[in-house]
Amino acid sequence: MTNSLGKYWDQFAQAHQQPAPVSIRINPAKYKADLPRVPWSDYGFYLNERPVFTLDPLFHAGAYYVQEASSLFLEQVLKQTADLTQPLRVLDLCAAPGGKSTHLLSLLSPDSLLISNEVIRPRAQILWENIQKWGHTNVVVTNSDPSAFQKLKGYFDIILVDAPCSGEGLFRKDPEAQTEWSEENVMLCSQRQRRILNDVWPALKQNGLLIYSTCTYNRFENEENLSTWAKEHAVEFVSIQQPEAWNIETISFGPSVGYRFYPHRVQGEGFFISAFIKKENTDGVRIKPGARLNTPTTNVIDRIKPWTKEPDRFRWVQQDDLILQIPDLLLSEVAWISNLLYPIGKGTAVAEVKHDKLIPAHAFALSNAIQSDFFQITDLSEADAIAYLRKDTQFFDSTQKGFGLVQYHNLNLGWVNHLGNRTNNLYPSNWRIRMTTHR
Ligand code: SAM
Repeated sequence: MTNSLGKYWDQFAQAHQQPAPVSIRINPAKYKADLPRVPWSDYGFYLNERPVFTLDPLFHAGAYYVQEASSLFLEQVLKQTADLTQPLRVLDLCAAPGGKSTHLLSLLSPDSLLISNEVIRPRAQILWENIQKWGHTNVVVTNSDPSAFQKLKGYFDIILVDAPCSGEGLFRKDPEAQTEWSEENVMLCSQRQRRILNDVWPALKQNGLLIYSTCTYNRFENEENLSTWAKEHAVEFVSIQQPEAWNIETISFGPSVGYRFYPHRVQGEGFFISAFIKKENTDGVRIKPGARLNTPTTNVIDRIKPWTKEPDRFRWVQQDDLILQIPDLLLSEVAWISNLLYPIGKGTAVAEVKHDKLIPAHAFALSNAIQSDFFQITDLSEADAIAYLRKDTQFFDSTQKGFGLVQYHNLNLGWVNHLGNRTNNLYPSNWRIRMTTHR
């Protein structure tokens, strides 16, 4: 770093003595913020201090995601290189815990399909939870190895590889990242990154866009790595316009062009991003319509239809007892992909069928497609909302009957079942707040 930063080393070192800025990215389908904005993102905002996010009901309602500001530059890359009004097929290959996937969902058109993949199983579960909070139906979460995507030859318009890296850019936020750092690890990461690129490259369309990013500074994982890799592939790097005032460094190395974020120059952490177009002939795989998902009975569909906004845009499928909602235009592709990969979740779970009852699914309470006013709604105070999210049972009586939504600031938190003399809290046990300290 002293070599590459020269006289700026001191400023860089000093920045590491300062607290990391706190930023969030709002979910535009649910929430608006009136805060100082991250210059390169319509959805990114800075906070003056770090609240206890776990104790904010809005966080659990999927109103925002806590994300460091530099990485929100993905938005500029996409806006400047892709036509986001088009129905795109997008893969986020290294997606957990879901920062960039949820950002992508806010940027893509509703007829686009996002495959959000994470190879490490427990991390894939966290990813699925965060995706459900965001409330979109045009998504499949998979737990596949990067090499599995070779079955989807030439299918994707955009692939994001937010690669596992040595994490130098997070030293300030996460001191543990420093103890894990070593020169050997940098070299291991570098090789692994090239292997991941090779594995997933066939799945990109000809003229498709590959976006590569890391949260590290060294050239072995960034510009030099891409430059070495690009020599063996037909690629064209793209330049992103960015005003000088943003203080982002443009890095050219051999054929590669990338953008580096330093904590002493931007209000954010260390980050690197680069984008290039595939200039190789790639025949696209044929989507086989053979794969099918089971359809629920007409009776179930008739009962469930009024639960959703724009019901004509959707189809319902049944997996064991679970009813899922998937955009009509994407159904055959979702079925096809589900057969080829290892899906953890797809679309949005709407309800569970139990005998003749439909038990609403938690994910559906958080869905942007839900017709909330079809249900009984209870507005909660902040204290009651937190009690609900802790899954304290029977915390209010009610004269209402049946399943109802609970809301905080007009956003759904989840379901309750009104039994007349008491109300059962249906918040999923594994999602509940376990933190005991109070603000
Ligand atoms: N994109 C995520 C976000 O914005 O929230 C962060 C991704 S993190 C930088 C890199 C991810 O790659 C981790 O979730 C990690 O588990 C995953 N990973 C680790 N080894 C991998 C491998 N060999 N192939 C693909 N992904 C891997």
